[in-house]
Amino acid sequence: MGFRLANIEGRAALVDGDSWWDLATITGRSELADPMAAIADPDALHAASATLAGIEPGGSLGDVVLGAPVPRPRSSFAVGLNYGGHVAEAQMELPEVPLIFAKFPSCITGPDTVVELRTDTGDYEAELVVVIGSTARDVSADDAWAHVAGLTVGQDLSDRGLQFAAKPPHFDLGKSRDGYGPTGPVLVSPDLVPDRDSLAITCEVNGEVRQSDATGSMIFDVATVVEYLSGILTLEPGDLIFTGTPDGVGLASGRFLAAGDVLTTTIEGIGTITQRFV
Ligand code: ZN
Repeated sequence: MGFRLANIEGRAALVDGDSWWDLATITGRSELADPMAAIADPDALHAASATLAGIEPGGSLGDVVLGAPVPRPRSSFAVGLNYGGHVAEAQMELPEVPLIFAKFPSCITGPDTVVELRTDTGDYEAELVVVIGSTARDVSADDAWAHVAGLTVGQDLSDRGLQFAAKPPHFDLGKSRDGYGPTGPVLVSPDLVPDRDSLAITCEVNGEVRQSDATGSMIFDVATVVEYLSGILTLEPGDLIFTGTPDGVGLASGRFLAAGDVLTTTIEGIGTITQRFV
C-alpha cells in the first residue's frame, strides 16, 4: 500500500485525494507527528495508509497550507548536467560520473511560496527530488530503491550571476539563496507513481511551457545516483537528492525570472508546486 505524506503546519499527515489525516492521531504514535520521524518509518506510513478508508479525515487540503514534505533535511544533494538536452544547451561535455553539488538545507521550502529573487539572473530548473527513507551505505543500484522513502517535486532555483561569479563556478551558493529550494506538494511512495524510472516533468513560466521531458531521460538514473553517493558517504532518512533538470532553462535562452512571474512545476503522479517571484 503506497502513501502520500504531507506536512501540515509542521505535522505529518497522510493524503488521499483532497483529504488528509493527521498521522500521529490515526496511529496513536505521537512521535510520528514530526514529518522527519515519519519519513524515517516508511513501513508505518504504508501500514497507516491502508487504514484510511475507515477513518474520518482530519480535513480538506484546500483548507490548509502545506509545508516542505521534508522540513529539516540533514543533507540536500543535487545532480548537475543530468539530462542530455540540458548538457547540450549549457554547451558542456557529458559527465562521466554524476556531478554533485549541495543545495544547502537552509534553502528548502514548501510547495507554494513567494521567492525573493535578489538579482535579475534568477533561473528555474524543474527536478524530481528523491527522499531517502533508510540508512544507505555502499548500496548497489539494484538495492537503491529499497532505501528511497518517496519522490517529490522540486525546483533547483539558481542565481546564474552568483553561480558563475566565481571561476570555477560555485554551484552551491548560486543555488542556495533563501527560498531557492521549493519542494512538495507531497512525498509520494515510489509504488504509487506510474513509473518510478520515467515520469513526465514540465515547467511553465506564466503559463508558457519552458521545460517538458520525462525523468527517464536522465543520464544517471535514481538508482545509479544513490549507489554513487552511498559509496562515498552515508545517506540517512530525510536526505534529499535533486536529480537534475531537462533542457529549456532561462540561462540558455537569456530569459530569466522577473518580479511578478509565476512558475509552476509538475511531475506526473506527484503534483504541482507554484512559486511567485518578488
Ligand atoms: Zn539543477
